[in-house]
Amino acid sequence: MFCKIINGDIPCSKVYEDDKILAFHDINPQAPVHCLIVPKVHIASADGIDETNADVVAEVFMAAPIIAKKLGLTRGYRIITNIGEDGCQSVKHIHFHLVGGRQLSETMA
Ligand code: 5GP
Repeated sequence: MFCKIINGDIPCSKVYEDDKILAFHDINPQAPVHCLIVPKVHIASADGIDETNADVVAEVFMAAPIIAKKLGLTRGYRIITNIGEDGCQSVKHIHFHLVGGRQLSETMA
């Protein structure tokens, strides 16, 4: 489904784009700022990262400070990636939630 957003078949509220990454606002935000950073290459989840595609992870984390600055997150933020059923992953295309805009909870799970 994120492939359709990347291809432009489904609209999104774009925050950042380069040749490897698309970032857009989550449709159901769980924080004042909730953006999804999505590698354009289709990988089902972070569990599918290996030596052939690990560069996209670096691309995501290089884009994150640019996106955070653009969204005014001067006090910090959190990046999360859900994996599989126990991880509550609902979209089977690797993506990273960037959340912030308020003091986040200390609990992770
Ligand atoms: P997951 O549960 O897989 O970690 O996260 C999927 C996220 O994608 C959810 O936070 C959900 O709100 C978001 N999402 C699902 N469909 C769409 C959509 O069509 N557009 C946008 N912008 N976000 C979506």
